Amino acid sequence: MEYEFSKSDFLEILDSSTEGSFIHDLEKNEIYFSDKWKTRLGIVHMSPKEAVSSITDLVHPDDQESMHKAYIQAIEKTNPNVKMEFRVRTADSGYIWILGQGKIIYNQESKPIKYYGTHMDISEQKRMEESIKESEQLYRTLFENTDDSFIIIDPIYDKTSKLLDFTHIKVNNTYLQDLGLKETEVIGKNFKQLYPDIENYWLDNNVLKTGKSKHEENYCKYNNRWYDVFSFPCGKGHMGVLFRDITDKKHMEADLHTFEKNLKLQDEIYSNISHELKTPLNVIFSTEQLMELYLKDDSIQGNKEKLQKGLHTIKQNCYRFTKLINNIVDLSKMDSGVFKLNLRNENIVEIVENIVQSVVGYTNERGVNITFDTDTEEKIIACDAIKIERIILNFISNAIKFTNVNGNIFVNVMDKGDFVEIAIRDTGVGIDKENLDLIFKKYYQVNKTLSRNLEGTGIGLSIVKNTVEMHGGKISVESEVGEGSTFRIELPAATIPEQENIRKTRNEPRQVEMIHIEFSDIYNF
Ligand code: ADP
Repeated sequence: MEYEFSKSDFLEILDSSTEGSFIHDLEKNEIYFSDKWKTRLGIVHMSPKEAVSSITDLVHPDDQESMHKAYIQAIEKTNPNVKMEFRVRTADSGYIWILGQGKIIYNQESKPIKYYGTHMDISEQKRMEESIKESEQLYRTLFENTDDSFIIIDPIYDKTSKLLDFTHIKVNNTYLQDLGLKETEVIGKNFKQLYPDIENYWLDNNVLKTGKSKHEENYCKYNNRWYDVFSFPCGKGHMGVLFRDITDKKHMEADLHTFEKNLKLQDEIYSNISHELKTPLNVIFSTEQLMELYLKDDSIQGNKEKLQKGLHTIKQNCYRFTKLINNIVDLSKMDSGVFKLNLRNENIVEIVENIVQSVVGYTNERGVNITFDTDTEEKIIACDAIKIERIILNFISNAIKFTNVNGNIFVNVMDKGDFVEIAIRDTGVGIDKENLDLIFKKYYQVNKTLSRNLEGTGIGLSIVKNTVEMHGGKISVESEVGEGSTFRIELPAATIPEQENIRKTRNEPRQVEMIHIEFSDIYNF
């Protein structure tokens, strides 16, 4: 036999629930709440009639309209099952969120007569929803507004679980701006689609394999920027990547490195130049002291020859000073753009031949042969004769420095039509390949142990190169270690129209002085 529920049974069941239950008699317009719910709402002493109007008052003013709408819809039968969320004021804890669910019962004439329902306290759930929404909002704001690029990507694997690529799932504005792309061009696209020859270091899923985040500095060739890249596992199988642009920092580091290198180089240059200055200075001082000694003990007469030699030494070291100072002054003039050429139409063959002839005595003294050869007797070009002489002397002085006794130096002038080629070849120690391009650089010296003569500043060839280029010419060098070197200059065979008088005679004393100066670090005159 089936159990017959009495009214009190139903009331007991309703009251056993922690939630509220009600029956709204729509014909009488009376509402019956379960006792517990009446207590919660603070309407214990109200009659079912009074409860109808009071419940409307208890609903939060902001929710009254939506609640009324839902109720009217249900009455009008468009939706007899009522479900709505609203806030209601309780006696014990102020407003709470309620999920109201109910059902309207209609009579045969489709007139609503009863409304059964429950009120469930969903405040806690609402609070959680709010806090999730808030933190989601927070993350979204962070994601969108950070100055760093931020992406969420998914790995793509082949059948053997080998990583093939990554797909963009989510990207922020900074990322799009950095790469100059639109969101629609990026979302769902793979790295390789967007950046076809992407470097391998961008395709690394170790973070996903190990579950450990990773920091590294990577270069992106697509926008020529450097990034500090932070990758981390994110959500289900996704990878988050945060990129901080560190290009400026990288440039500063590089500048600092160059600055430090230059500082070191400058130190070396100063110590080299001061050594070059001190050497002749020391010789002059010690010679002077010797002379003073002769003066003191009145032995000048007996030491006349030594005195003469001492004076020579002083003179020769003064030449060394002059050479060094000339070079430093020329170089600084070149750097500041005030180094000027004094162009005249000159017979270049004669200039070179004369200077070679003037040094034959000196090369012989060093046991080195020098030979001049030319395929033409005359070639008039616009040049600064004094500067050309210094260039040739510089080449010959170097050739002597780096050529052993019985070695040879060949100086050739060749008419090549539009230009004149002057080649200075020696059979000396040669220059290794890695130094060949560098010897024309300011202050550059090949490892000094290679040279017989340990003096030098590395200035000579850089002045030579600049001077040749100011003439509109070119300079080059070929060399084999142990075989010798060939320095070649090409000077354009152009003339200047205003110049009518071709200089025929050379100023001999000036030239001798110049040789003394240019050869001062290899000879004792
Ligand atoms: P430096 O005053 O030191 O000689 P240079 O500028 O004239 O300076 O030359 C630079 C470097 O080139 C020299 O230190 C030397 O090592 C190398 N060099 C120049 N000419 C020759 C050569 N003919 N043979 C071998 N090495 C040479």
